[in-house]
Amino acid sequence: MTDPLSVLKAQEQILEEFKPSGSTFSVLPKALGRILSSDIQASIDLPPFTNSGMDGFAVIAADTTGASVENPAILKIIGDIPAGTNPQFILHSGEAARIMTGAMLPEGSDAVVPLEDTDLSSINDFSSISELVKIYHPFGPGSYLRPKGQDLQKDQAALKKGKFLRPQDIGLLASLGMYQVPVYQKPRIALLTTGNELIDPSAKLSPGKIFDSNSYILSSLIEKYGGEVILLGAADDDPVSIRTLLQSAASSHADLILTSAGVSVGALDYVRLVIQEHGEIKFWRVNMRPGKPLAFGNYQNIPLIGLPGNPVSAFVGFMVFVVPALRKMTGLPQSHLQLRTAILTHPVESDGRESYLRAIISRRDDVLEATLTGHQGSGNLFSLVQANALLILPSGVKSLPTGNEVKFIPIDDDLGAD
Ligand code: AMP
Ligand code: MG
Repeated sequence: MTDPLSVLKAQEQILEEFKPSGSTFSVLPKALGRILSSDIQASIDLPPFTNSGMDGFAVIAADTTGASVENPAILKIIGDIPAGTNPQFILHSGEAARIMTGAMLPEGSDAVVPLEDTDLSSINDFSSISELVKIYHPFGPGSYLRPKGQDLQKDQAALKKGKFLRPQDIGLLASLGMYQVPVYQKPRIALLTTGNELIDPSAKLSPGKIFDSNSYILSSLIEKYGGEVILLGAADDDPVSIRTLLQSAASSHADLILTSAGVSVGALDYVRLVIQEHGEIKFWRVNMRPGKPLAFGNYQNIPLIGLPGNPVSAFVGFMVFVVPALRKMTGLPQSHLQLRTAILTHPVESDGRESYLRAIISRRDDVLEATLTGHQGSGNLFSLVQANALLILPSGVKSLPTGNEVKFIPIDDDLGAD
């Protein structure tokens, strides 16, 4: 039997087999969380026209020179400019136009005087407008204006290829009037679990059986990390049943086949055998804990990752090996998740394999502290549910004392677990 591969070597071998998916278009309301497949340049100026930053009066700044409370500048009001209108007049010296926030500045004007700096500060009614306005302070050119192109100029780089689209990015695309957004296609992942003991949670449990949690953990993870799931359900521990589901996976033309369980050395672990009938296993053991029985190869030329059956091992295997592959396929520039560092609140031990331990990261003052959650048995999902991170003990390290720095993979977007 060959020696288990190191985590790093296994990650490298897996990543080599994947490339970014092709490009497609998403309509704007559906583009959240997708990855841009092209650079986006501003097609218009933002703002598209010079507009008022305040409710007030559009003026010519030079008309307010020397104005004071005792000796105000007095200007003639020649019109109103509500937001959304296109003023059809030119402002001349001695004139002002009442203007709303966001409304277009009239030609000739180069400053806005806020209402509160005039004698009309309490008037909010367009119809009862006075003929004249007194201005109590001088205003320089550009005061309270939002010049055309201040935020972004036409043809300027707006968003880069490979950008994960957040709500604010969606907002910018909307401001630019971009409705069809170029994004990478979602990688399609065919998912099958194996095991005679598995019952779907929609059915009734019987003695000796357990509910299939991996189908649901893994399909949720696939969606969370930007993939599309082809859910094939559970195969029995027999070659015919496994072959049937692998065949469906192959004919779905998935980008990746993901299996759970049956890749170890048990008497009924047929998955590797069946894969080899129409594919190849490149490795099937990794020097890590949990998750040592982890297979990688291909079936009918589709890359295949065989995750271990224990739910926590399957989760860890997904985070360590499938997430980088998914990130690469979805077009993110960095395939690996960013690791962070925390300080141990108590000693931790391992058997010297690279270990991924369930932990709570909490912030005390400016320091992140790491505390293990519950029993670390690889079947125990509850201690994973209580965790917000996987601590990484490097290969060869059997114990670390309180206060030691340790790297971790955040598994919640928000580290404030309860
Ligand atoms: P195996 O890899 O088949 O030896 O399975 C290892 C352990 O994981 C066994 O205790 C299985 O019952 C459990 N297991 C396998 N598949 C699943 C699944 N889909 N959901 C929950 N537990 C599972
Ligand atoms: Mg089994």
